Order: sequence, then structure tokens, then C-alpha cells
Amino acid sequence: MNLDTPAPFQIEHLGPWEGMGRYSFGPLVGKVFTRETLGLTSCEISLNLVKAGQGMPFLHAHNQNEEVYIVVAGDGVFHLDGQELPITEGDVVRVSPSAARGYRAGDHGMHLICVQAKAGSLEQATRGDGYRLEAKASWMV
Ligand code: ZN
Repeated sequence: MNLDTPAPFQIEHLGPWEGMGRYSFGPLVGKVFTRETLGLTSCEISLNLVKAGQGMPFLHAHNQNEEVYIVVAGDGVFHLDGQELPITEGDVVRVSPSAARGYRAGDHGMHLICVQAKAGSLEQATRGDGYRLEAKASWMV
């Protein structure tokens, strides 16, 4: 992929959450990274299906990247720098690069999205970056 001229968009169909168990990253079953398949240039995003009672087998930290974990469904426990906190659907957790982190799903499993990007790299967002176009989609009148 040429990062100088990326495609204007990319869609990767990863399938239903319950099928994420077919992906793995090392010992982490149910984890799929999207940076390479989507050609992401500004962040890494992983989808994580964590089965009931299972979790990361180790704590980890990062050198440069801040992470945001979004609990899409289910619940569990997040280990954050020595504290263990309950997490549930709708929770969004920001973790600084050097903080120790790990998670474990509760009795119903957990669906997590993790976004990581270089801490301090975001210079603008939302209204500071987006702008309206005159073009319209089919449902716009
Ligand atoms: Zn990480």
C-alpha cells in the first residue's frame, strides 16, 4: 500500500462479533487488528471478542501510544496500574502509554474495540477538522 496516495475509502467485513474467535494475535484468541487490512495511517484499531471468564494472559504498556477501549457489549474487569475496576457496556477507557493494563471478561463475555494512536499527536478534531460538502447522498433532499 502506498501511504502517499491511499484509496479514498476501504471496507473490511469482519463478520458478526460471535465469529471473531476465528482471529487471533499470539495467545489472544478473538483479537483482530485492522491497520493493515484497512490501510490505516493515523491509528490502530482492534476488535476483541473476549469469552466469558477469559482475558489477557499478561499486562502490557506502550512506548508511545495512548489507547482507548470501548466496551461494546458485556462486562468484565480492567486492570489499570494496579487497580482493578469493573467495566460494562458503554464504558470508554483511556489509558496513557506507560500505564499497565489488562482485562478479563465477566460471566457473559465482552466485546471490546481498542483504538491506539500516538499520545499527543491529535492536533484537531470534529468541528476543527470536519466541514460540510454541497454533495448529497441518495437519502438527502
Ligand atoms: Zn495495547
